[in-house]
Amino acid sequence: MHKIDHIALAVKSLSTAVPLFEKLLNTPCYKIETVEGENVNTAFFQNGETKIELLESISDDGVIARFIDKKGEGMHHIALLVEDIYAEINRLKTAGFIFLNEEPKKGADNKLICFLHPKCTNGVLTELCQEIKT
Ligand code: ZN
Repeated sequence: MHKIDHIALAVKSLSTAVPLFEKLLNTPCYKIETVEGENVNTAFFQNGETKIELLESISDDGVIARFIDKKGEGMHHIALLVEDIYAEINRLKTAGFIFLNEEPKKGADNKLICFLHPKCTNGVLTELCQEIKT
């Protein structure tokens, strides 16, 4: 059974978006983390069971910079928490879904992540994530 782990929003600047979301959600940002491989800085807020992740590009040609150029700031992806990401990838591939990366990679917040292609999920970029057990 899935639950929504987080909803991610593309923002131009964490330095303005973080205080705004701290006010909006009435909770402090609990983690800021850079994901080098993705050229993004991430900021996390807990909102009930679900997290809000803000994504800021650290390069002019990174995926988030290009997303904002095309669509402006706003909703970037939703992330579904799964127990076994490899089993879910197999299940969804068998069901005809297409992945942007079939091999899970390390994302922010101690997670293995992979993305489904938005063309097979009604235009909504969807991430699967699994806690990395240590
Ligand atoms: Zn995410």
